[in-house]
Amino acid sequence: NYFTKEGFGALVARFGADVPVELSTPVRKILWDVPGVACVTDRGTIRAKAVIVTASPAVLAFEEIEFAPALPDGHFAAFFDLPMGMLTKLPVEITGTRLGLAPFDDLLIERLARHDIYFLCFPFDLDLMVGFVGGDFAWEMSAAGEAAGVDFVVDRLCAIFGGDVRKHVGRAMMTNWGGERFVRGAYAAARPGRSQARATLMQPVAEKIFFAGEHLAGPLMQTCGGARLSGEAVARTVAAQLAAK
Ligand SMILES: Cc1cc2nc3c(=O)[nH]c(=O)nc-3n(C[C@H](O)[C@H](O)[C@H](O)COP(=O)(O)OP(=O)(O)OC[C@H]3O[C@@H](n4cnc5c(N)ncnc54)[C@H](O)[C@@H]3O)c2cc1C
Repeated sequence: NYFTKEGFGALVARFGADVPVELSTPVRKILWDVPGVACVTDRGTIRAKAVIVTASPAVLAFEEIEFAPALPDGHFAAFFDLPMGMLTKLPVEITGTRLGLAPFDDLLIERLARHDIYFLCFPFDLDLMVGFVGGDFAWEMSAAGEAAGVDFVVDRLCAIFGGDVRKHVGRAMMTNWGGERFVRGAYAAARPGRSQARATLMQPVAEKIFFAGEHLAGPLMQTCGGARLSGEAVARTVAAQLAAK
């Protein structure tokens, strides 16, 4: 959870630079009544002894990947017990003033835990304030759209620092992870009383379909680091299993 000036995606890309990755190659179908598995992608079919599926539970609940034969009911139900929560970032460029704030100051504007907004202020002394909204409010904001989201942020800043702030606002945008077909939210949150869904998904299917990702990362669930550790742990399990055969 340390900050990177270039953005966290840059850190992930650098960290995994030597990992062969094919972008724009969605897996549409996973056949597992064949020797090993066959993953049908838009760019051909990949055969393997086993597959580790790291798409979010929401992507899997929407059946973006068809499993043939179908997954056991317990696994399919687990996707629905781990729906995606939402966190939305609203970065706003603020030029010509620091509003009396220091780099990395935290600013929280509370509204009964419903319309709260947190700002990370001027990180790395950049002309940037990053607003964060979460939960139901973040989903509502996504539905209202980017223009409404940016208006909300600027109005809140004006309410605190005065209407002059508007003159200092430059570029602004809103993230929309809920609208990303292959992610569909920020990170998974178990329904009350249904957290055993995580243990269910940690059970491989037929010793050849394995699941990994932030939603299966134990105490580091919901984080990028947890996603990495989950993937590595499952990969080690698969490698050991294949070596034993
Ligand atoms: C606004 C916001 C702020 C956050 N802040 C932090 C933070 O400060 N620190 C932190 O640790 N975490 C943070 N997170 C959470 C972090 O981003 C997630 O926990 C992490 O990205 C989960 O990684 P993952 O690999 O499990 O899943 P994903 O990141 O969802 O990766 C799954 C990948 O699978 C791909 N995929 C999906 N379907 C298919 C398919 N059919 N075929 C091929 N590929 C497919 C997707 O395109 C995606 O690239 C934040 C998240 C959000 C939204």
